[in-house]
Amino acid sequence: MRAVLLPGDKRVVLVDRPIPQPGPHEVLVQTKASAICRSDMSIYYGTPIVGGAPTVDIVPGHEAAGVVTAVGSAVQHVSVGDRVAGYLAVGSQYSEFGAQGYPMLDPDWKCFGFDLDGGDAEYFVLPEANVLSLPDDISFAAGAVLTDMVGTQYSTQKRLGVSARHTVAVVGLGPMGAAAVLIARANGARVIAVDVLDSRLEQATELGADDIVNSANIDAVEEIRRLTGGRGADVVIECSGNPIGQNTALDAAAKLGAVAFVGESRATEIRPSDQIIRKLLTVIGGWYFPRGDWDEIIRFVQDRKIPVEKLISHEFSIEDAEEAFAKFDRRETEKAIFVW
Ligand SMILES: [Zn+2]
Repeated sequence: MRAVLLPGDKRVVLVDRPIPQPGPHEVLVQTKASAICRSDMSIYYGTPIVGGAPTVDIVPGHEAAGVVTAVGSAVQHVSVGDRVAGYLAVGSQYSEFGAQGYPMLDPDWKCFGFDLDGGDAEYFVLPEANVLSLPDDISFAAGAVLTDMVGTQYSTQKRLGVSARHTVAVVGLGPMGAAAVLIARANGARVIAVDVLDSRLEQATELGADDIVNSANIDAVEEIRRLTGGRGADVVIECSGNPIGQNTALDAAAKLGAVAFVGESRATEIRPSDQIIRKLLTVIGGWYFPRGDWDEIIRFVQDRKIPVEKLISHEFSIEDAEEAFAKFDRRETEKAIFVW
């Protein structure tokens, strides 16, 4: 089968590999869609942000969907022909956090597409426990983006109880921020979208943002306060991962409000007393979703007819992987996916 490898330094290599064989508790999936994520760029550069293993020989892609073509001898709930998506966190279902649906919080968890071969190949293998079923009316492309961006936003906003009572500001409108806008609107919130790129602000408007703020031209904190009668946003979802965006999020949040940090970032400088303590702010981290939220996520998208495919701007063949990663890296695409 054809598979992508990212050996580092922005190199993209296509290789021919044998089709993997599923173990007793595993499932073989023929890939139909696999999305590129900002976190894949860390592998592309050679400094993976997830997992401890060197990724030189590991197929990337942690947002993938396809059709089951073989199942291991002990598999009970998945059959050949099932339409599925992959849940990225591989770990025990009986450990402290795995039992709560959060295998990625256990110290020995493995990440699909980082520690284990992922979806940027014609086939992938996952344990039965990591197979998410995909209804017929959800496309493979939608299934792929549901696993990370949409699922992460759904669960993060669920934890904050985002509803029609809230004004939600989304800072940073890459694919994750665009998903934040879509889900916040579906939750009934008023949405203020913040970015430095007009193209991304236009997309946010199409996805349902009520107000847009180009923070390259105006002070985003002042503008968010002006748009909220001086109060600030009840909830701010930080998706940029850069220090300016992170400080904007904390400054623009209302007293007793909440901020979710979703954009990956290794270090930053903030002012806790002014930004968090004196405002009695709730600050949470948003990262992927618990396994048990999947059925809710599917129903939420189905019932509200949420156009998740709108988040995808480019489709590529795996043979054009080099171009796909380069364009994504240069932010010349929004969400980009490989399709077969
Ligand atoms: Zn991702």
